[in-house]
Amino acid sequence: MLREKVEAAAMNGSDMGALEKLIEQSVKELARPILRYGSQLVADQQEMRCPECKSELLVEEHQRKRTVNTVFGEIEIKRSYGRCKRCDKRFYPADHTLGLQVHAPASPRVQEISSLAVLRTPAGRAPEDVRRMTGLDIPASTLHREARRQGERALRLRDADVALTDTLKGVKKLSKRSQAPERPFTLVIEIDAWHIRERDCWGETEERRKNGQEIPSRWHWVYTGTVFRLDQRGETASGRAFITERGYVATRQGVEALEKQLYAEALQRGLCQAKSVLVLADGAIWIWNLAENRFKQATHRVDLWHATQHIWTVANDLYGNDTPEARQWAQERILWLKRRKDGALDVITSLHEIRDSLDDLTSQQQETLDGEIGYFDRHKDRMDYKNGKTLDQPLGSGAMESTCAQYQCRFKRTGQFWSLDGDEAFLALQTLHWNGRWHLLFPHDRKKE
Ligand SMILES: [Zn+2]
Repeated sequence: MLREKVEAAAMNGSDMGALEKLIEQSVKELARPILRYGSQLVADQQEMRCPECKSELLVEEHQRKRTVNTVFGEIEIKRSYGRCKRCDKRFYPADHTLGLQVHAPASPRVQEISSLAVLRTPAGRAPEDVRRMTGLDIPASTLHREARRQGERALRLRDADVALTDTLKGVKKLSKRSQAPERPFTLVIEIDAWHIRERDCWGETEERRKNGQEIPSRWHWVYTGTVFRLDQRGETASGRAFITERGYVATRQGVEALEKQLYAEALQRGLCQAKSVLVLADGAIWIWNLAENRFKQATHRVDLWHATQHIWTVANDLYGNDTPEARQWAQERILWLKRRKDGALDVITSLHEIRDSLDDLTSQQQETLDGEIGYFDRHKDRMDYKNGKTLDQPLGSGAMESTCAQYQCRFKRTGQFWSLDGDEAFLALQTLHWNGRWHLLFPHDRKKE
C-alpha cells in the first residue's frame, strides 16, 4: 500500500521532501496500533497496588477507557483503578507506570515536544514549528497548556529540593547528588537580577484591545544565580572563556526564595566538598547579605568591571567626560585595583586626598566623591583582584551576564508575556532543562548507562 503510494509519487517526479513526508505519515498510521498494543500490555500487567505506599488497592472499576494524544495520533487504552485505604486516594496504577498524568490528554512525548516548543519559540509561532518538525498538529492553546503543566511539575521538583535544605538529612541528600571530584576544587557562585515584563490582565487582552484600552504591563525582578566549579571552565581556540557544566537558578519570588534555591543548587554542585567558595556579583547590598547568610565560608568579589565603572564616574565628574585627564586619572587607579595587593585602599586614600585638597569642588562633585568613597569602603574587602588573578579565578561575573542574557532571550522576547504564576512555572521548566534534569520529568530521556 505504502509502496504503491510512493511509486505513484515517484512517477510524478516528486522531490525527496515530499517522499519523506508521505512515508512519515504512513509510518505513523502503521505505528499507532502497535503503540496501543504495547501500552495496553503494560496496563494489563499492572498489579493493583498503590504507587505511593505499595499497599493493595481496593478495585473500584475495571477496564476504564482513556484516550491519549500520542505522536502517532489518538489511541485508547483500558485500565483499572482502585482506592488506597492507607493514602485515602484513588489511583490508576497503569497510568502511573505509563507516565500519564491526571487529566492530561497528551502522552509523555507530546508533552515533551510541547514543552520544548514553548520554551524555544515565541508563543504564536510554536504550532507551525511543531507541525513542520514533527508532523503533529497541536493548537497553540494545547501547546501552552501542556508546557505549563510540565512547568508546574518542575516547580514541585524544585520546591521539594528546597524543602530538603531545612534538615541536615536533606542537606546530605542534596550533597550526595554532586559529582564533585576527589581533588580540591573551587566553587564559583554568581548572582544578579534582571527585569521581566508581565501583563497584568491576563485573559482580557482581546476585549481591551477592541475597546481601545491600554494593556497594562509591569516590569518585575527576576533573581538569578549560577554555580560552577572553577575546573569546569575552559577556553575556546580564540581565547573566549566558557563553562562546560553549571547550575542555574531563577525565580520571581524574591531574594529569600533565590537564597534557598541557590543553596539547594550549590549543594548539588559540590558546596560541601569544595575547598574554597567564591561569590561574584556587582555591588548590590542584598546580594552580599545573601552571601553572608548562606555561604559563610565564601570569599566575596565585586565584579571588576563594576568597580572600574565607579572609578570612571569620579574621573568624568572631576575632569570632564572622557577628557585625557579623566582617562589618565581613571586608568592609573584601575591598574592599582588590578595589580596592587591593597589597591582598593589606595583608591580610597586618593579619593580622600582629592576631597580634602581641592577647594573648588562643586557640591555635586563632593557628593559624587562621598558616594564613591562609601562604595569602595563598603566593598574594599571584596576587591582582591591581584590574588584572584594569581589563583586564576574569574574577576568579573561574565558567566552571570551570559546566564541573564540566556534567560532574557527566552523570557523577554517581544510578544512573550506570561501570567503571574505562569512565569515562575516556565522559569522552573527552563531552569530544570538547563540544569540537565530533563529526565526527571521525562524518564525516557534518561541516558542509558
Ligand atoms: Zn497508598
